[in-house]
Amino acid sequence: MSSKFNYQCNDCGREIPGHGIVYLCEDCAVRQKEGQPPAGVLKVIYNPSLLRGLTFRKLVANRFIELLPFNDTGSLPFLRTGNTPMYRISGREAAIGGHELFIKDDSQNPTFSFKDRASAVVSAFAKEQGISTIVAASTGNAGSSLAGICAAQGQKAVIFAPASAPAAKLTQILMYGAILVPVDGNYDNAFDLSIEATKHFGWYIRNTAYNPLTIEGKKTAAFEIYSQLGHRLPDRVFVPVGDGVILSGIYKGFEDLLKSGITGGMPEIVAVQAAGSSNLIDNLGKKAFICMPSSTLADSISVDIPRNFRMAEKYLLQYKGKALKVSDQQILEASRQLSAQTGLFAEPAAAAAFAGYLLANAKGLTGKGTINVVLLTGSGLKDLKPVQPLLNIPEAVKPDIHSVTSFLKDKTGLV
Ligand SMILES: [Zn+2]
Repeated sequence: MSSKFNYQCNDCGREIPGHGIVYLCEDCAVRQKEGQPPAGVLKVIYNPSLLRGLTFRKLVANRFIELLPFNDTGSLPFLRTGNTPMYRISGREAAIGGHELFIKDDSQNPTFSFKDRASAVVSAFAKEQGISTIVAASTGNAGSSLAGICAAQGQKAVIFAPASAPAAKLTQILMYGAILVPVDGNYDNAFDLSIEATKHFGWYIRNTAYNPLTIEGKKTAAFEIYSQLGHRLPDRVFVPVGDGVILSGIYKGFEDLLKSGITGGMPEIVAVQAAGSSNLIDNLGKKAFICMPSSTLADSISVDIPRNFRMAEKYLLQYKGKALKVSDQQILEASRQLSAQTGLFAEPAAAAAFAGYLLANAKGLTGKGTINVVLLTGSGLKDLKPVQPLLNIPEAVKPDIHSVTSFLKDKTGLV
């Protein structure tokens, strides 16, 4: 390997030098079958001769640049991206069971979602390549993320989103000054159209499981978890799953640490899907992928054909990951419980990971003394509609103390 990294095809194993813009393994992509998950998705493999003697302290001191697919951390946005807090939750109902619970709060990213990690890496790479326009198809979070990161970087974002995406996310895209192309169709339609437009206009595209660099951004959460646990691996990480890209990213981060000789093992990753959109879990280990129509209120993980199914499946089988399904009702209840018990208000897709943790705990799968991490991928303010049925905003009281007293007596039992 003569470059800093090569790309390796997830399906055929072929390596492609890491120079310039590369998306898929063309040998495998041409054999793509209708209705099946994308073939030929690439993974970044770092040049082992450049990693000799790498320590985790050095990696942290250099902001992980040895394991990132560009050359200078100065190419990253000036906004703090990643480096999100991880909270130890103890003494709460949610954390009873003789184990440790940590919540990695990625809603604290610049655009309030985990996707900023991927946008930052793609944007930094584009900057070093002299590219000024970046495209994305998105159900909302990836688009609002790319729009915000591009605004910080002086780049132009073009976002293809289903017209039905949550209003807060579409609002963000427009406020960040991106070009929004609302598509009269679903995410798959927006995805295909964005790739066609990218080819047609000669742009650069961020789409996950198409652009291999998004995983390189997402994996940094795994590095931070290891760092924040005092250079220890967790026993278990609960990850919300739609396309399988965040799952693959978390695996890739821990795998990079393992392959660099920094760690000696892998944590158990628990893939949590909404029961109404569980094609990734349901097709694990199957010969042919069968797509069931998806329906869940957790819009960011509502996916028919998971774009990174093949890589996620390979990781889950290789490292013996677990899979859990949670109902929409369980997601809403988890969202309410998390907000009320910890002050962390997560969007439904993110609350799904917490619902998965609660379910695992109820089933006795979180062993005594183990370290469990729940990945919160986005802020609840991004999608307020799904939690409305939980709320009962009271009628206004007259502005006098008697009205307040009778209100508190009748409605709350506080006085
Ligand atoms: Zn291939």
